[in-house]
Amino acid sequence: MNLQPGKLLGSPLYPAERRNISRRQALQSLSFGFTGLIGASSFWNFLKRIAGEEAPSDVFKGDAPNSKTIELWRKRGWLVEARHYLKLGRNVQCKVCPNNCILEPGDRSHCRNKINLDGTLFTMAYGNPCTFHIDPVEKKPLFHFLPGTYTFSIATSGCVFRCMNCQNWEISQKKPEETKDPSGEEFRLRPPLPSAITVSQMRRLTMFPEDVAAVAKALDCPSVSYTYSEPTAFYEYTCDSCKKVREIGLKNVLVTCGSIEERPFKDLAQYVDAAHIDLKGFDEETYKKLNSGKLESILKILKLYNELGIWFEVINLIVPTYTDKPEVIKKMCGWIVDNLGQDRPIHFSRFSPNHKLTYLPPTPIDILLKAREIARSSGLRYVYIGNVREVDDAETTYCPSCKKAVIQRDIFSITKFEIVNGKCRFCDTKIPGIWKV
Ligand code: SF4
Repeated sequence: MNLQPGKLLGSPLYPAERRNISRRQALQSLSFGFTGLIGASSFWNFLKRIAGEEAPSDVFKGDAPNSKTIELWRKRGWLVEARHYLKLGRNVQCKVCPNNCILEPGDRSHCRNKINLDGTLFTMAYGNPCTFHIDPVEKKPLFHFLPGTYTFSIATSGCVFRCMNCQNWEISQKKPEETKDPSGEEFRLRPPLPSAITVSQMRRLTMFPEDVAAVAKALDCPSVSYTYSEPTAFYEYTCDSCKKVREIGLKNVLVTCGSIEERPFKDLAQYVDAAHIDLKGFDEETYKKLNSGKLESILKILKLYNELGIWFEVINLIVPTYTDKPEVIKKMCGWIVDNLGQDRPIHFSRFSPNHKLTYLPPTPIDILLKAREIARSSGLRYVYIGNVREVDDAETTYCPSCKKAVIQRDIFSITKFEIVNGKCRFCDTKIPGIWKV
């Protein structure tokens, strides 16, 4: 069932699922009945507390912008009703990611992009990217997807996570109003493209989904990447852009933390061609502390990607003292082999001091080499090390049969390519990936 705003009000709750209702759903259903007496979120929080369940993610109480800003946002087309949410009286609950934010009127979501206006959930991150670039697809990194091509890359503000080591915290941990300016003359980007864009234009820039597709095509990029911050935090814009991009025959790439609920994921997945998914660790406690994420829900989404046959590569950033324990890396690699297969590429990425972890050193090279050794001995066939210059074959793809190098890379460029029709040129072994546009 596709959740639509308001669909649950005045209609039987989850008709198909009531037959097998969970404790969580039972508690949630109960809370609907009391919305006339008491704020639903307060009651829901109360029920969850007495049930010993975790409280929903922090939201920004009363932080929705003032009516003047909202009006400007609306005029620009940057404010659209959100998808996949429940109405709980005048409160709303977003069901896009496992944070499941509950917002009272005037509140702002955990990801900073959504607001409750008089009982309706809106996203402020629509048609208003705060940055875009043309990147080599290797920079995502994706090594088995259209190698040597460029991908048109966009992001809005906001993120569903709070990674202490975030490299892009200057956009991911910002509100839409901190990155965009809805006043002054509109600047809509679509072909024909200008030769340069000023900072002021960038702040005013509008790029609707059809513009994203047209600009990518005009720039000769065979794919569009939703990246830098987190595409789940600008879900509606990502979905609509993906559709438009597909319509004109280009491909879509998600660079994501993988924290998304199953229904919105399935709605989006039909338009996704490839993904870079961060598996940021392999124990719940560290995930919570370092990233504010939930490992279990991410593993579920990784398995879904696999089942749906979407091409994806796993990235694991090794953060000293947090995610550098060999026994945990071993457990993670074993899980990948068992659940995603030996052909699933994994990239161990070197941490560099950032955001709240500037006091930590970069990941030592020997730990990255150790991780590669563990992954290979676990059975993984395509293991890479990222962000290092000191290891010659850190980014080399080897044929698992004849062991010859079939792709060599130097930073983001391809220096050797020995794959023909998706197979090793030397021994004809199939190398998994998407090799042709
Ligand atoms: S997408 Fe944003 S608003 Fe929705 S549940 Fe996740 S953090 Fe909350």
